[in-house]
Formats: sequence, C-alpha cells, structure tokens
Amino acid sequence: MKVSGHAVISLTVGGILYYYSHSLAGFLGLLLTGIFVDLDHYIDYVREQGISFDYMKIYSTCKDGDKHFKKLTLILHSYELVIFLWLAIVFFNLNIMWQYITVGLTLHLVVDQITNRVVPLAYFFSYRVAKNFETKKIFIDR
Ligand SMILES: [Zn+2]
Repeated sequence: MKVSGHAVISLTVGGILYYYSHSLAGFLGLLLTGIFVDLDHYIDYVREQGISFDYMKIYSTCKDGDKHFKKLTLILHSYELVIFLWLAIVFFNLNIMWQYITVGLTLHLVVDQITNRVVPLAYFFSYRVAKNFETKKIFIDR
C-alpha cells in the first residue's frame, strides 16, 4: 500500500485510540510504526540500487518492488516481530506506548498483506529466509 493509505489508516485508528486513552506518546508510537515501517524498503534499495536521497526515485522503485528488486529482506515487515511484541506486552505488562506501537505495526502488516500481491506467508520473515529473500518467490504474478 502507498504511504498515504498507511497514513490515513494510522491517523484514523490512532485518533480513535487517542480519543479514549489521551496518550499522545501512544498516538505518536502508532503513527511511527503504522507509517514509517516502510523505511526498511530503503535498506533493500541501497543494497540493490546504491545510496540515493532522491525521494521520488526511491519511492517509485520501492512501490513496484516486485519488478525492481531481485531480493527483498524487509526486516521490519515481520509477523514474528508482531508476535514477539504482543507476547512481550502480555508477559512484561508493557505500557500503552508499546501497545500502540504494536497496534501500528500489526495494522501495517495486515494492510500490506491484503493490498499487495504476495503469497500468504510473505510477511513471515522466516518464510523469506527460507526462500532466500527471492522476490519472485514472495510475490504472485511475477
Ligand atoms: Zn509496508
């Protein structure tokens, strides 16, 4: 999904949660993960294209990542990370900021899972490791 779509969803859900909790830190944490998790695309961009600070070039390349990248690691796009965070919240009674950070990351991954043409297990980091991060094994219709 586009950054603007993640922003709309994160602002909406974050706004609703803020209405009930009045936690600005939680709200900002949700925006941080809900929107900016996509910064991990830049790691793959640098590995395959080299360092660049041309936002539009980076954005257009990453938007169609299945066409431009041989491999995608996307280290933050990970259901394992989501599961770890939810377990940490439950077992260590982590505060509202961690809860909202985890809500933002969960939302981001679920929306990416629904809107991107990927195989069902694509957002499990272990699946991408098993497939050697090969883009053609992560996306459908390639
Ligand atoms: Zn994403």
